[in-house]
Amino acid sequence: MLVILMGPPGAGKGTQAERVTREFNLLHISTGDILRSAVKDETSLGKKAKEYMDRGALVPDEIVIGMIRERLAKPDCAGGVLLDGFPRTVEQAEALEHVLKDLQLKNDAVINVDVAADELLSRLTGRRVCRNCSSTYHIKFNPPRVRNICDHCSGELYQRSDDTVETVKERLDVYSRQTLPLIEFYQRKNLYHAVDGARAIDEVFADISAHLQKTKG
Ligand code: ADP
Ligand code: ADP
Ligand code: ZN
Repeated sequence: MLVILMGPPGAGKGTQAERVTREFNLLHISTGDILRSAVKDETSLGKKAKEYMDRGALVPDEIVIGMIRERLAKPDCAGGVLLDGFPRTVEQAEALEHVLKDLQLKNDAVINVDVAADELLSRLTGRRVCRNCSSTYHIKFNPPRVRNICDHCSGELYQRSDDTVETVKERLDVYSRQTLPLIEFYQRKNLYHAVDGARAIDEVFADISAHLQKTKG
């Protein structure tokens, strides 16, 4: 099974990915997580990506496409994958089709977590992430049991440097211009399914699960 989770920044992709991958036994591949870890380790990829991420722009297609091609070729992907945050441009989506064909994998579903822009700003500025396992929390909407400590691994929570009001505005703008066209791209392929992401985390998850159960058959 290969599932793509899309949606604007702050829609709840990471939050839902955590639950969906557990429920359906899929490997969670987040391009944002891979890039942040490269930035932290100061690899050559990280050095190239950082300037784009800092200003809320997309990292160039050829960089992320190469990254995903390499990642999907690893044997641990054979049991099924959930892609979180990739593709984000039509060029990435087209490249993904070639990669999947080469690896003899099939795209089963594209789920769009749909949330209006005004809600996204408060979600992103209140977001906290575990330094250790990348689990996502929100200071109001989804707080950890102990302040600033991850429920899953006791890691320390931090605020992403791109979750500031200015950078969030730029990311939402980038989403509208560069990622929204993907909706039509996947509608034409009959893979597209939207869920209303403006509801409680559990309700959104129930919708996604129901759709994936149906897709699995
Ligand atoms: P994305 O990966 O799409 O950028 P996240 O999963 O990181 O989004 O969620 C963004 C923020 O919103 C996080 O702080 C998360 O805890 C919170 N959040 C996620 N889903 C919901 C929801 N359904 N209702 C309220 N807050 C949510
Ligand atoms: P969010 O879900 O909150 O938008 P992500 O963690 O998915 O954040 O991405 C953070 C940043 O990493 C993006 O703003 C962008 O700079 C970069 N990035 C992640 N995925 C991609 C991608 N598929 N293409 C280009 N850049 C990406
Ligand atoms: Zn953790």
